[in-house]
Amino acid sequence: MARYIGPVCRQCRREGEKLFLKGEKCYMDKCPVDRRNYPPGQHGQDRRRNASEYGIQLREKQKLRRIYGVLERQLRRYYRAASRKKGVTGANLLQLLEMRLDNLVYRMGFAPSRTAARQLVMHGHVTVNGRKVDIPSFLARAGDVVAIAEGSRQIPLIKESLEAAASRGVPEWLEVNFEQQTGRILAVPEREQIDTRIQEHLIVEHYSR
Ligand code: SF4
Repeated sequence: MARYIGPVCRQCRREGEKLFLKGEKCYMDKCPVDRRNYPPGQHGQDRRRNASEYGIQLREKQKLRRIYGVLERQLRRYYRAASRKKGVTGANLLQLLEMRLDNLVYRMGFAPSRTAARQLVMHGHVTVNGRKVDIPSFLARAGDVVAIAEGSRQIPLIKESLEAAASRGVPEWLEVNFEQQTGRILAVPEREQIDTRIQEHLIVEHYSR
């Protein structure tokens, strides 16, 4: 599946806020949002500040896409699946995105960012319930065990990322064994357990227009 391969920080500047797309590195590097807090491009500083209702909903949707690294078509598919499920559509949508394998690898601390997690998955460094899975969009379930493949446990990026995660901690709905480089999904997270700063009702309004 295709993905955005342009400059990472440009996406944050477009949304006018820090989306922490580079994970840990965002705390170390100088953040362009601090230095140039206006949209990129020649006319970035001329863009209208009073957005319409549609514009606000659109930006929120774009923010969600950028955070989880999914394309429009994929997000629409998740939205349709979320609206078919019982419960609140916005929360269902976030839960589906959280259960993507690349997100889980990031949340468990095996990778410093979702982009790096995606790479690890695609290169066959990750297993689910003991089987290699190289599809970043693979949807895991509660109870599944996600692990770093045995032959990949010495990769410096993984080890460094796990060290940082061990001191930072992982979300309560996950359980990680940092020594063995394995993690278990204890439950599908509730909305309040997902720290993504998104107003999902705006995205639901956008898609249900
Ligand atoms: Fe976004 Fe991080 Fe780049 Fe800042 S450093 S613009 S938060 S990706």
